[in-house]
Amino acid sequence: MPEGDTLFRTAVTLQRAIGGQVVTRFETVLPKLARVDVDTPIAGRTIERVESVGKWLLMRFSGGLTLLTHMLMSGSWHIYKPGERWQAPGSAARIVIETSEYVAVGFNVPVAEMHTAESLRRERRIPAAKSDLLSLDFDAEAAVVRIMSEAYGELGDVLLRQRVMAGVGNVFKSEACFVAGLHPFRKVGTLTEKQVREVVAVARKQLAANVMEDSGDRIVTWRGVGRRTTRNSDPKESLWVYGRAGEPCRRCETLIESRMQGADARVTFWCPGCQSSKDGYHVPR
Ligand SMILES: [Zn+2]
Repeated sequence: MPEGDTLFRTAVTLQRAIGGQVVTRFETVLPKLARVDVDTPIAGRTIERVESVGKWLLMRFSGGLTLLTHMLMSGSWHIYKPGERWQAPGSAARIVIETSEYVAVGFNVPVAEMHTAESLRRERRIPAAKSDLLSLDFDAEAAVVRIMSEAYGELGDVLLRQRVMAGVGNVFKSEACFVAGLHPFRKVGTLTEKQVREVVAVARKQLAANVMEDSGDRIVTWRGVGRRTTRNSDPKESLWVYGRAGEPCRRCETLIESRMQGADARVTFWCPGCQSSKDGYHVPR
């Protein structure tokens, strides 16, 4: 699943490429979108703005229509110059939006809906800007309160709940818990408000750093000596714990552990040496 920062960058890239331009061609293999396009053609409309909210991408067209997409595990948006060779098979293309300068292609986009201003207002799955870690309007104190209210939830799992806070995906979940020094399997109820505030601040900082960072699709939370200059392509080489089960912790050399967590069984990584499971909570094995 793309993390909030990946989607944020996708939105920024799309906005730079096609924002403000007029759609010259719109094609889709998705029946519902195709029907909207027949009734109220997308070609000829201006792309007013492309933005991300949590893990949703919103493409706003003139005339009040908004294309809402969610990438889940599989989807992605690419940008090409007209005639440029696509980096994914044409059969995977679900939506093609062309302007005079660029072609935006949505590959394997599993969720795509066209909304009017009215239906978008009623859309409850999109988190409010104040719960989006990457929004300037993010309200950290309110997020802390929402996390604290999930007292019986495990920290790593609660951080993924988009209603609680939007933007943290599976990688940042493990990385933020590590940097905050908190065991991801601790029940939230065993944490102090200060600890929760800390993990929220860390997650926000990590996401923001990756938005600014020119790291491509790679997430960077750890920098070894000289890491800025060596372009190591192994994603594990830029992270503290994620994907590093059985390898020594970069801080204390204890072996990193991993285990499935939550109803969706998303894998979580942690260092038993650096991340305290104390304060009355026994970590089951
Ligand atoms: Zn450690």
